[in-house]
Amino acid sequence: MAKYSLNVLGGGQEVGRSSFLLDVGEKILLERGVKLNADEIQYPAPVTTNLDAAIISHAHLDHSGYLPKLFVDSHSMCYMTPPTLEISKMLWFDSLKIAGYEGVAPQFSEDEIVETEKYTFPISYRRPVNISKNCSLELFDAGHISGSSMPLISFKNKRFLFTGDFNPAETRLYSGADLRAGKVDYVMMESTYGDRNHPSRAETEKRLCESVQETVDNGGHALIAAFAVARSQEIIDVLHEYNIDVPVYLDGMSQKASRIFLDYPEYLKDPKFLKKALDKTIWVRRDKHRKEALKQPSVIVTTSGMLSGGPIQHYVKTVHKEENSKIILTGYQVEGTPGRKLMDEGILETEADTFKPVCGVEKYDFSAHASQSELLRALNKWSPEKVILVHGDLEVTEVLKAKIEKDLGIDTVNPANGDTVKLD
Ligand SMILES: [Zn+2]
Repeated sequence: MAKYSLNVLGGGQEVGRSSFLLDVGEKILLERGVKLNADEIQYPAPVTTNLDAAIISHAHLDHSGYLPKLFVDSHSMCYMTPPTLEISKMLWFDSLKIAGYEGVAPQFSEDEIVETEKYTFPISYRRPVNISKNCSLELFDAGHISGSSMPLISFKNKRFLFTGDFNPAETRLYSGADLRAGKVDYVMMESTYGDRNHPSRAETEKRLCESVQETVDNGGHALIAAFAVARSQEIIDVLHEYNIDVPVYLDGMSQKASRIFLDYPEYLKDPKFLKKALDKTIWVRRDKHRKEALKQPSVIVTTSGMLSGGPIQHYVKTVHKEENSKIILTGYQVEGTPGRKLMDEGILETEADTFKPVCGVEKYDFSAHASQSELLRALNKWSPEKVILVHGDLEVTEVLKAKIEKDLGIDTVNPANGDTVKLD
């Protein structure tokens, strides 16, 4: 009988609600995320055992969003980097706010967020700590968002590496994932883009800035939809680098996320550059700023990244009618979101209306996830005995599993939710 095992509570053959229970005699929970669909939230399976420790790789809600509920029954310690805690808290409080004005039951209470913080032990990269009697934990920089990590768990004579979401490629904000964990026995790996490669970042940046410059030269508005955490800041950096010389406005939760980023400069590649770029932008605080932004040629970087809510709702009402303006998407558009509908059908759904926009609509691939070739290169470095693929759609994990087995000859599984993977 296998001595060790991994139980998939969520995030098996899907992207969202990541949660995994590692059983090595001691019980370690990795991630506690939610899956945010267009009109409902899905949760991982319940934790039905006493935990020895919990670990959160990074702040995105599909990895952290259900954590505050965990401490109702569990009083184990939870480990993450300091920025992961700060950004998660921002996102948790924001989910409560959204539940409030949508009139739905909140997923957890403010008290539970406070409780979560009490049981969280922040650790930085490359500082191994003992998290239970036989397990130690070391976090490697994942290069995905500020504070994102790849947890390495060592127990007895085995090493288990979880990649979380990782990006080995250098971007404006980060130097790229730290792949120097050495030889490991098991890798549990994300497979979001396991079936494809990305266009070069430099090329994408150039195309974006050319398009933005052309738009403002024609007297239009470049309305850039960007996620609050990391994508907005990267876009601001890129616009600064290309010296786009019209006012650049920053609106939405990205302002708060930017402040947290600058509070943790050691988690950025070039904090001074980001600070300069952010200082040059106009932080929208009042309606006056929103009117001003729409009165002159401008760039507006705002949330939500998928056009579902957020201040972008205000801007699209004007921009969609302007032939010389553009709505620019900069991230993955989940099925069922207004952003996806706009891309696929050319129809813009706002909270109140439906339009057929006359402005331009463009999309750029600023992915913060490893591509197929980067995933294979990373595995080559870690040379594990077994690979467990998670955080990817079924078809994508099938393609990647076949590729790993054929090219690298490593035993690979892509478990579904509820499956238990034996580990020896
Ligand atoms: Zn993520």
